[in-house]
Amino acid sequence: MSIISKDIQKAISLLENEELVAIPTETVYGLAGNIFSEKAIKSIFETKKRPFFNPLIVHISSVDELETIVSEIPKKAQKLANAFWPGSLTLVLKKQPYIPKIITAGKDTVAVRVPNHPVTLELLAQLSFPLAAPSANPFNNISPTKPEHVERYFKDDIKMVLDGGICKNGIESTIIGFENDEPVIYRLGALALEDIEAVVGKVIIKNKKEENPDAPGMLEKHYSPLTETILTTDIASEIKKYPTKKIGILAYNTSCKSDEIVSEIILSKASNLKEAASNLYNALHELDHKNLDIIIVEKMPDIGLGKSMNDRLQRASYNS
Ligand code: AMP
Ligand code: MG
Repeated sequence: MSIISKDIQKAISLLENEELVAIPTETVYGLAGNIFSEKAIKSIFETKKRPFFNPLIVHISSVDELETIVSEIPKKAQKLANAFWPGSLTLVLKKQPYIPKIITAGKDTVAVRVPNHPVTLELLAQLSFPLAAPSANPFNNISPTKPEHVERYFKDDIKMVLDGGICKNGIESTIIGFENDEPVIYRLGALALEDIEAVVGKVIIKNKKEENPDAPGMLEKHYSPLTETILTTDIASEIKKYPTKKIGILAYNTSCKSDEIVSEIILSKASNLKEAASNLYNALHELDHKNLDIIIVEKMPDIGLGKSMNDRLQRASYNS
């Protein structure tokens, strides 16, 4: 029987009983548990096979709840929360003492956001505790943007995927921390850099492991298909290098019309970066299940959400 269901009451009773439920958000599906249940939080790490040094994001239902999770709110953090919540922005701030350290990987800061999905906002409003929810994929795999992706990963491990349809942004949240009360981007994501800078002015990006030991989850290889994945600015010449291989193509806006290709997905024929971002992971999931030898991916234009997609694609193709 399928574990996908729209029954919010069932999700509530599972979560109240310290069990996990996969939840829809506008970014990707999350694997959620009660932040105050050690059993639930441990089970998130175990189910995902996620190392304990990689902290979780806390999901709350409104901007007003922020002060119950964090102990200090810099002016620019409040401004960003007011501007973008509910939405795809995660803030990393000093935690309240009662936020368990297992969630924060032992750190004094906690990552928090208000997701912009009606089903999960309703769920959070009815629960008496916030939810910790990393993406609902095994560690290092592609994040899920449809209930079926989660079911395929975890049908034997969890009891329920709360069905909220397809994730409309389709890429993880943008994560911002603060150094001397000034915003620093730890992870590029579904909220474009340009939109953030329009609210708080120029921000620094420190999204590489060596630049930022404070963001323990920023691994060089991450978000990857099982199939070897190659990132390129020139699909046509890349194809020529692999005459004997079964090739899949992931292109931005135009078909490369070549006989060597077994399968091709175009992310946005209209050259719309938002549309491309929302299709990205689903396309990678599809190509990864076609028994290909390699997936050749076109680099996106390096602006707006294209920057965030390139960040994920670089990690997906690391070492390939
Ligand atoms: P995920 O929930 O899978 O999208 O990953 C959450 C990411 O948030 C982690 O990989 C970290 O990079 C980041 N993160 C969470 N908590 C913190 C924190 N306290 N300090 C810095 N980065 C954090
Ligand atoms: Mg993740």
